[in-house]
Amino acid sequence: MWAYDDSRAALRDVLRLSRAMTYKAAVADLPLGGGKGVIMTPLLGPLTPERRHAGLLDFADTVEALGGRYITAEDVGTSSRDMSVIVERTRYVAGLPRRRGGSGDPSPFTALGVESAIRACCERVFSTDSLRGRSIGVIGLGHVGSRVARRCARAGSRLLLADVDESKRRLADELGARWTTPERALTATVDVLAPCALGGFLDDQTVPRLGCAIIAGAANNQLADERIADVLAARQILWAPDFVVNAGGLINIAEEFSDYDPAAARRRVRGISDTLRQIFEAAEAMDATPLTAAMELARRRLAAGPVPVAAT
Ligand code: NAD
Repeated sequence: MWAYDDSRAALRDVLRLSRAMTYKAAVADLPLGGGKGVIMTPLLGPLTPERRHAGLLDFADTVEALGGRYITAEDVGTSSRDMSVIVERTRYVAGLPRRRGGSGDPSPFTALGVESAIRACCERVFSTDSLRGRSIGVIGLGHVGSRVARRCARAGSRLLLADVDESKRRLADELGARWTTPERALTATVDVLAPCALGGFLDDQTVPRLGCAIIAGAANNQLADERIADVLAARQILWAPDFVVNAGGLINIAEEFSDYDPAAARRRVRGISDTLRQIFEAAEAMDATPLTAAMELARRRLAAGPVPVAAT
């Protein structure tokens, strides 16, 4: 659920996001396709609780009409509480609260996956996956970013935190982290940058100004366009493809389709580090970027055959 300037912007976003979901599910080797729904809040008018509720129900009717070819779940702007509204009109919803038989908020699993990805990147660049003493910048301290920051703080990293929302500064104080603006965090000299806000910020203007060795974060669609993966490689910055790094939530949700076991979900999510190792090795062997290697892996899996269930 997001405030887009116009419906073309919403359409562009949903197409980019659904493509990323396809790659995400394929690389994570899940029996899912890829899809995305957006709810454009300006269309709902001033967002009163009643209008929000009506918008969710309207969306739920669309999902139901697809008859199970699309399964919705929470993302930016929605919560597992919203999924409890959507389930009033459709069965095709995942990520319901645990007390309602779902797997609950996917964010802790996404954050675990981001930590696993950061470790795999550190191993590649610094020859150790230890996060002790590593300087890590986290931009965006929402559901995922705040948890990534806590996990890295527990692992002994030195943190630089940023968010457009000044109230998130409290987290920096609590974790003994440095606080800065998102603009400064983007170009700060750090070992790892973990972008956990919105996408599209890596472009021809920002990449030359980056001061990090590694980028691994939850934000979807981080590259303004795919060519930027080459620009990052030319600067010798290791960029872990976002759709690999942030698959933890989807991996957890996919567990709902068998007997949900959070411990099994955590094990699978930690496997993101092995997937990344495989991608980095393939990239080196192909003399290509990690993006090319990850897309190649996804395409091979997609070509291997149809998947039994559609998207979340
Ligand atoms: P969220 O809405 O809970 O948090 C986003 C945070 O980013 C907020 O604190 C917001 O104030 C901040 N923010 C917004 N614009 C910013 C900017 N320009 N600079 C700095 N901070 C900014 O969202 P989330 O669930 O934590 O998701 C974060 C990102 O990860 C999104 O791109 C989302 O699509 C992606 N993602 C999330 C999940 C999940 O499980 N929640 C899974 C996969 C991918």
